[in-house]
Amino acid sequence: MSPVSLPASSLPLTGRQKISHALIFKGGNAQVLFEEARRLTAYLNCLSDEPSGRPCGSCVHCRQIKSEVFPYWFTIAPQGAAGLIQIRQIRELQAKLMGKAPAGQVKVAVLLEAHRMREESQNCLLKTLEEPPEDTVLLLLTDRPQDLLPTVRSRCQLIDFGCRQLLPAQAELDLVLDVVRALESQGYYAVFDKAAFVEGSRKKRLPEFLAALEFLLRESLVSHLSPQAAEKGLIEDLPAGFAADGRKLLAALEEVWQAGYFLERNVNALLILENLFLKINKLNIRVAKGG
Ligand SMILES: [Zn+2]
Repeated sequence: MSPVSLPASSLPLTGRQKISHALIFKGGNAQVLFEEARRLTAYLNCLSDEPSGRPCGSCVHCRQIKSEVFPYWFTIAPQGAAGLIQIRQIRELQAKLMGKAPAGQVKVAVLLEAHRMREESQNCLLKTLEEPPEDTVLLLLTDRPQDLLPTVRSRCQLIDFGCRQLLPAQAELDLVLDVVRALESQGYYAVFDKAAFVEGSRKKRLPEFLAALEFLLRESLVSHLSPQAAEKGLIEDLPAGFAADGRKLLAALEEVWQAGYFLERNVNALLILENLFLKINKLNIRVAKGG
């Protein structure tokens, strides 16, 4: 298996300089797998030399990857009544991968629902897995890697994304952290200035706000219960979390679920927020240092 060199500008994904040229991204949420494929492509092709090594999101490559017009990003998906990846699609992909990418760029081929291939298609793909073109990464996205031929599986590095859900938007996570910081430094009453974000569109914003808060609490709880779990995975990019003991994090999570329950039952959004902020303040939930 010949490894692909990461461009100097990219951070090694797991502290390693090399990744395998063929990867199986396994997971139950197809959208998560697709986003991770896109993220890896950005890691491999970002032009910035930010010290963090994270894809900058604003260079020409990052923007092309985001809008799926990056010239070295190829995707194939099952087609036709049978819903299979056809051997013809594999051959077309192979022809595209023969083209050379400019220096420092990496071609990425993404096979969606990769298990939906007949044996002949998989055998055809096998040739590329055995002798990949230069600077090429193949990503097989699937929730059923066991349905792939053992010969295919054995040539791929398996990355398990489990049942991970999509990250809430960064703006939403930042807002949650701002609100919790304000609760800490200015107290419960002052936080409603912060909560002006919901004025006018309180009801519309609230579900996203609750989802982001739930996400951060859940991630904090996981890293609290198992510090190793937070480090697991290829491209972990978790935002700052909360510092509190596990029992309090769990109690705060229950408050968020309750807020969601009230929201569904059309309880006044301001009341829901007041109650939630009061509980979070009482539980002494703090933004972790460095977050
Ligand atoms: Zn970039």
